Amino acid sequence: MADLPLHDQGDFADADRGFIAKLSPAVVRTADGRVVWDGDSYDFLQEDCPETAHPGLWRQSRLCARQGLYEVTSGVYQVRGLDLSNMTLVEGDRGVVVIDPLISTECAAAALKLYRAHRGDRPVTGVIYTHTHVDHFGGVRGVTDGGVPILAPAGFLEHAASERVYAGHAMTRRAVYLYGRALPRSPEGQIGCGLGMTASTGTVSLIPPTLDLTRTGQEETVDGIRMIFQLTPGAQAPAEMNLLLPDRRALCLAENATHNQHNLLSLRGAVVRDARAWARYLTEAVSLFAGRADVAFASHHWPTWGGEAIVRFLEQQRDMYAYLHDQTLRLINKGLTGPEIAEALHMPPQLEQAWHTHGYHGAVSHNVKAVYQRYLGWFDGNPAHLWEHPPRESAIRYVECLGGAAGVVAFARRYIDENDLRFAAQLLNHAVFADEGNKEARDLLAEVYTRLGHGAENATWRNFYLMGALELADGIVPATMDVTSPDLLAALSVEQIFDSIAIRVDGPRAWHERLAIDWHLTDLGERHRTTLCNGVLVQQRNPGDDAADLTLRLTKEQLVGLLAGKGVEGVEREGNTAVLQRLVAVLDRPVPDFAIVTA
Ligand SMILES: [Zn+2]
Repeated sequence: MADLPLHDQGDFADADRGFIAKLSPAVVRTADGRVVWDGDSYDFLQEDCPETAHPGLWRQSRLCARQGLYEVTSGVYQVRGLDLSNMTLVEGDRGVVVIDPLISTECAAAALKLYRAHRGDRPVTGVIYTHTHVDHFGGVRGVTDGGVPILAPAGFLEHAASERVYAGHAMTRRAVYLYGRALPRSPEGQIGCGLGMTASTGTVSLIPPTLDLTRTGQEETVDGIRMIFQLTPGAQAPAEMNLLLPDRRALCLAENATHNQHNLLSLRGAVVRDARAWARYLTEAVSLFAGRADVAFASHHWPTWGGEAIVRFLEQQRDMYAYLHDQTLRLINKGLTGPEIAEALHMPPQLEQAWHTHGYHGAVSHNVKAVYQRYLGWFDGNPAHLWEHPPRESAIRYVECLGGAAGVVAFARRYIDENDLRFAAQLLNHAVFADEGNKEARDLLAEVYTRLGHGAENATWRNFYLMGALELADGIVPATMDVTSPDLLAALSVEQIFDSIAIRVDGPRAWHERLAIDWHLTDLGERHRTTLCNGVLVQQRNPGDDAADLTLRLTKEQLVGLLAGKGVEGVEREGNTAVLQRLVAVLDRPVPDFAIVTA
């Protein structure tokens, strides 16, 4: 375990600074009574750190579990701890502008109500989405019905919608592990995710932005509030921006600099992020904004006050990402592979002495592999790894070579005794993948995962290990989250809608199908053709005049309805309507609760 700067208690003072009021009880429900947020379930974090948690993570969770309304500076407030993210409220001439309205409309409404109870019934006069992740826009209908300026970085809508189009179902399943959704909240169970406690589970909404920010240095005024923007695409999110409130001397850092090491690649799966760009944006933030802010706040965690402290914080965050990037590439060019670099690379001690460089959400170990992945991909160059058997087939053979399952379990016990839990997990994983009915191996692996989880500094590692242990003991936890949000579906572009159909085509079933459908989007004035051939659904805009098998005239809303499984009533059809059924017949369904810790 790295030395922890336990003497440094400054974060506790900053996390409490400006406190006005709590939400009590800290429970948010839907209209029909379902609990979507329960902050009080984390009250146990007030106890001393138990044996079942890493002291650094326990400390971080204790800070993240604080909840309520806080004054950041005159006219700038935050509601923290009522969802994974923070809602920031900036008071203008007529009302209040909301920066990042949380994940769920229910939590956003509760946060606004708490603010209004102490600051008066100010109308919401504008909204800012700092970036494309759902914890920064999903609650918007909890604060406004629209009709106000909504500002977002260029590319926001496309990327906000696209994350769910392609690998969304797999990400949703893995997010159950990432957040430890099925774990009890207890000293032995879920104690947060580093960035916050967990994600709320209410109604996700989206109102499209009315104004895209397109360049760094752009200035806008909403409700008398001046804002200067810095665009930071391709770092923490594909579209993101920082902003300065010059008249408040306050700097919003979105999610580009928070009080932990962030992910270059989320363990739930994502397109890998660019550490080099991330570091450069932080350098740019210092040069643009140093001396112009007395407080810096983000959409997670607590603010940092004081001009010097802000610059130190930004430079340390910058150096952390730059070090990860540059040192990984240095070692790559000496021939080291991802797992080798992950073992060899350590943060400089002076950076480790800053709490906010610690890996509570991201981690040096998996971030290094993300840098490797970005530049070199999955293959490490070793031909032995080019054509390995898949996990279950490998496992069966390893178990046979090790003298059968009993032998593997015996070896595993030896490594457990030597406290080499990592190798014990590898061995027992083979035993379980070879025969998932092997209860002894399952139980022992669950025990090993539990111990690895309890020792982890990183909250998402802890959650993955403990979820693995839970599913080994109890079986797969069925998916309960409904991932479809009508607003998010409506935000899809026509191209994204056809993409989402194309990735559901069951290739082999469609090998011998051949059909063409023209889609005339009457409200958009667009013509698209989808052609199914060779097991591939190809889309083309403005097709030629040759006849398709079927022509449909419909609105985008009707197209979204078709995608959501509604029928074709009201859709004008011309040609062979049977081809639509033939297309639907070759569409596959995602599996929402696939196995992870068993074969
Ligand atoms: Zn976030």
